[in-house]
Amino acid sequence: MFSKKMIRFPNTLAFRLTFWYTLVVITLITIAFSASYFSLKKTLDQNIESDLFDDIIEFKILYENEGLDGVKQEIEREMRLDDEERLFFLLLHKNGAQIYSSDLSHWQFLPENPHIIKQVFSSGESTFQTISVPEAEYKTKTIHGLISPDVLLYTGESVEEMQNIMTLLSNVFITVFLIVIPFASIIGWLMARHAVKGIKEVSRIASEIEKGKLDQRVAVSAQGDEITWLVNTFNAMLDRIRVLISEMKEMTDNIAHDLRSPLARIRVISESVLSDDNTPQEFKSAASDTIEECDWLLQMINSILDVAEAEAGVLHITKQKINISQLVQDACELFEAMAEQKRIKLVCRLENSCHIDGNIQSLQRMLANLLDNAIKYTLANGQVDIALTCTKQSIEIMVMDTGAGIPENDQARVFDRFFRCDQSRSHDGCGLGLSFSRAVARSHGGDISLSSCLGKGSCFTVKLPVTV
Ligand code: ADP
Repeated sequence: MFSKKMIRFPNTLAFRLTFWYTLVVITLITIAFSASYFSLKKTLDQNIESDLFDDIIEFKILYENEGLDGVKQEIEREMRLDDEERLFFLLLHKNGAQIYSSDLSHWQFLPENPHIIKQVFSSGESTFQTISVPEAEYKTKTIHGLISPDVLLYTGESVEEMQNIMTLLSNVFITVFLIVIPFASIIGWLMARHAVKGIKEVSRIASEIEKGKLDQRVAVSAQGDEITWLVNTFNAMLDRIRVLISEMKEMTDNIAHDLRSPLARIRVISESVLSDDNTPQEFKSAASDTIEECDWLLQMINSILDVAEAEAGVLHITKQKINISQLVQDACELFEAMAEQKRIKLVCRLENSCHIDGNIQSLQRMLANLLDNAIKYTLANGQVDIALTCTKQSIEIMVMDTGAGIPENDQARVFDRFFRCDQSRSHDGCGLGLSFSRAVARSHGGDISLSSCLGKGSCFTVKLPVTV
């Protein structure tokens, strides 16, 4: 039975580079080994064949000079110097009779090939063969060659020596392989990690930027390679985006600022139309609608300018020592009626006497925004909790609700100006409350974070240092 669990390899560039590097090293070592293995084998093969051929020539000359006795003595001499398991000699007459042989006790299953013998006698050309002798461990290379028109020498030698050299070479290869591959993998891994270090840094900064930290930049190395080029381009792109965003914000703020006065004038004119007794009733109702819309627009414009002000850090100028426990308590009391009206349980758990340095109005509005949202986006019979904890260094305010929750994809964007989740479009609001709250938290040296589960609720956590 196969295990259903498949081995999963990390899908990282560093892993893939290491994998390919190791594969290339394995392939190169294998090619180098195969090339040396086969060329060595060929050379050794040729050496044996040329030894055997030399034997035929040597015995031919001997036969011519000293006759059969001289040949026999030379065979005996060679057999004394060598191992009879490794070497054999057989002299055959043209009529098929065996004239003489070395000790063939180890070669009793030596195959004789009448066809080749006949062919060599008729052509006069020597013939090589590689044969497997039954019960012999190694193959044998043989030659059939004429030493006279009537006498054929059939001699052969075992390839044991050659085989031993080839086995030694294979063992060396396996040892080198086992040592080199782990080293190659480690070196490949280190090289790959070094190569992708820059890319990792770029993606780390990109994810920081995604969280809103637009001022982050990737450190440029002095190497001047492709990664440095990527980093430079990436940093330049961030500079450009930053400029574009600030220009866009500035433009929004300017438009908001410029719209405030004409809107205020329209409101005044509508008010005078409304308060004039001679105005017909339908004009009065139009004037009343105009005032309502003007109020809504003015409120939005003021919110935009408040966010701009908070982001610019103007709030720092007017900071004072604040009893934050009291501030949260007051906010709870203020929203109790609204919660009660929606049949929502509002629970406040506060540590006493927590103090921070800050701007009281903006912190009040930040708390109001968070509580207002929590109650607004929670259905009847739900619960909203606000908790304050403090240490010597910082305070933490958590606003939790059992409301609609925020989809995961929207969670990073709820703090952006004008962003509203699709599911919230039926509620009042213009998507500026949280961007204002975050700007306030940041202008106090802290920040605000969110954890939320769709359909279960949300928790906004504000962390502020005690002294800015
Ligand atoms: P709005 O005026 O729309 O409330 P905010 O900036 O305060 O603007 O909030 C932005 C969006 O974040 C809201 O439109 C809403 O979709 C979502 N949101 C904020 N607070 C909550 C919450 N407690 N529960 C669910 N959604 C929330």
